[in-house]
Amino acid sequence: SDIILQVENLKKHFVTQKGLFKSKNKSLKAVDGISLTIHRGESFALVGESGCGKSTVGRTILNLLTPTAGKVIFEGQTLYDVENKVKIDKKSVFKLRKDMQLIFQDPFASLDPRMNVGQIVSEGIIKHKIANQKEALELAAKMLKLCGLDSEAMGRYPHEFSGGQRQRIGIARALVLQPKFIVADEPIAALDVSIQAQVLNLMTDLKAQFGLTYLFISHDLEVVRYFCDQVAVMYMGNIVEKASTKALFEESLHPYTKALLSAIPKTHPKMEKQRILLKGEMPSPVNPPSGCKFHNRCLYAKEVCMKEAPLLEEVRQGHFVACHRWQEIGS
Ligand code: SF4
Ligand code: MG
Repeated sequence: SDIILQVENLKKHFVTQKGLFKSKNKSLKAVDGISLTIHRGESFALVGESGCGKSTVGRTILNLLTPTAGKVIFEGQTLYDVENKVKIDKKSVFKLRKDMQLIFQDPFASLDPRMNVGQIVSEGIIKHKIANQKEALELAAKMLKLCGLDSEAMGRYPHEFSGGQRQRIGIARALVLQPKFIVADEPIAALDVSIQAQVLNLMTDLKAQFGLTYLFISHDLEVVRYFCDQVAVMYMGNIVEKASTKALFEESLHPYTKALLSAIPKTHPKMEKQRILLKGEMPSPVNPPSGCKFHNRCLYAKEVCMKEAPLLEEVRQGHFVACHRWQEIGS
């Protein structure tokens, strides 16, 4: 099927302030060279612990952050090509906003408390001059209805709604512009467990109805399992494994992925193994370990792991892994 988004060797480094020890400014390598291809109609998951750089990837793709290096191509249009000094102009970014939208983790923080729901959801339509005020409100009401809220919600304010309803408002606001591509950054992580499935079901229905493509950012592999077609697992700014959801769950190859999967109870008959407990915590991204950044937590680390960073390689069709020892470790 055809490609909607292509990301090549994307990097986003932040310069941190000088520390107490008068050291030089250091660079925090939030995203350190990731590549991914997303096909139209797919749900593509970016998974990892908090601080691994997954949200930064999403925001860089959406032009909310400027990459340090690499390329982002959306529907054949180059948004960034840092090495060749190509950057999309502001006017085109504005136009692109219609096609690429963000659903936030915390809908409350992203909804203006002084605006009523009708204003919130219709705002984008008016900004983009798609319709006049009256038509915009009609479109907003229609989209809210599709998202499970009746027209009475239009005159009310964000604080009058529950967390799940607020997320429905956030989704309606994103979808009213009829985007093609949605970055959903932990869209259900802040919701009660009882509400999570409802919101995921809504996102699934809307995907089918509008032919959407999702980049679904999550720390939770279990959620991803039922919602996504492809999964990329991130660790400290790099993708360490990438595969179809099925292949990843049946036959994960990277020690980090295996540890994440082992934390899910009864993932798969083959996976009814002991929980793999990782040593220690994720190191500071300002001072990443040498070689394989996972080596200080990996049960399989050897000399080579401390010296050489493993490359992400396609070891089976469509299944990529970055580990020197994946073959010896087995699945
Ligand atoms: Fe572990 Fe070495 Fe593989 Fe890194 S490269 S995941 S340290 S075995
Ligand atoms: Mg995040």
